[in-house]
Amino acid sequence: MLRILLMLVLVSHGAVAATTKLDIQVKPGDTLSGILETVGVGASDAAAITQELSNIYNPSNLKVGQEISIFVRHDTGDHEKLVFDSLVVELPSRREVRVSAIAPGLYIAKAMDRLLTSRTVKIQGRISRSLFADAQSAGMPISIITQLIKLFSYDVDFQRDIHPNNQFEVLFEEYLDEFGKSDSVGQVVYAKLILKDKTLKIYRHRLPDGDVAYYDEQGQTIKKSLLRTPVDGARISSGYGKRRHPILGYTRMHKGIDFAAPSGTPIYAAGDGKISYIGKKGSYGYYIRIDHSNGYSTAYAHLRRFARKLKRGSSVKQGQIIGYVGTTGRSTGPHLHYETLRWGNHINPLSIDTIPGRRLRGVKLAMFDEYRLAVEKIIGSAPTYAKVYSTKP
Ligand SMILES: [Zn+2]
Repeated sequence: MLRILLMLVLVSHGAVAATTKLDIQVKPGDTLSGILETVGVGASDAAAITQELSNIYNPSNLKVGQEISIFVRHDTGDHEKLVFDSLVVELPSRREVRVSAIAPGLYIAKAMDRLLTSRTVKIQGRISRSLFADAQSAGMPISIITQLIKLFSYDVDFQRDIHPNNQFEVLFEEYLDEFGKSDSVGQVVYAKLILKDKTLKIYRHRLPDGDVAYYDEQGQTIKKSLLRTPVDGARISSGYGKRRHPILGYTRMHKGIDFAAPSGTPIYAAGDGKISYIGKKGSYGYYIRIDHSNGYSTAYAHLRRFARKLKRGSSVKQGQIIGYVGTTGRSTGPHLHYETLRWGNHINPLSIDTIPGRRLRGVKLAMFDEYRLAVEKIIGSAPTYAKVYSTKP
């Protein structure tokens, strides 16, 4: 049996013929032609529609719980009779396939991007238990809460800094389908945390070159540190400083840290930056160097291979996979040799904990300030849990 979840009546053009949308959820044992027949489509038409759909989407791939929308019109001559207009099956990645009746017995299937509009939603609240619990009871979607915690984790110690009566305020994107039903949520646009002794605000901002990042009120990116460990689950097998070289035998300076990890373990970019060297480099074997802001660079040696499509000049994001642990060059076994440099001089990676983020200047800072004030204005005038503005995505 199928279940009709919702009936929505839309009045089209002449206000004579009305189209009704039937949202149908696939139940165990349902077939598409069975569903069509239940809403009054004749067997031969149901077969033709199913045949047409299968040019783009195999109807036997329909899963239990998947939603199908069927649009029917009321026959102008006979109000009791429903005429099939079209059906829509959602595909992954915001695509959909629509089968429309173009003439009696004639159907055509077309895959298209789903029509989504976005709106910005504001949610605010007071903390009584934890940011997570109180944001959730204020109606904030989990994916937004997760983003929020990640974004503030550069500046907030969630164990010690959060106290009862601290406050939060968040603006985030929500996508709606063509019928105004929530489809998904996007990104945090703005967030404020009022703590006991400080107030933190972050803004998602797009630079003229298209680069999107989160900034504080001063126009400084909120990501501060380089990742301490650019490989997962690795242990330090050799620290920074003087040591006896395992192959050459004499004492020399070890200009980085060695992380022992199995061959093939992914290596992450320690911070946002641009690749300034990628390739073979003498005893380093396969080697990558990334230049970050403020004169900092990080280098990764003895790689088995590089991540695809990376080349000199490529931009990378913190946490992006850049290569895989190996033992190329002068190396005794699979490990990552990791170096940090400032203005070209080696420094101990463990001595770095707060590398300041990128700071906007000049025209970029002026544009950010303008944007920031516009956001403040929206926040100030919007009631809690409000549609603030709507745009086409
Ligand atoms: Zn080393």
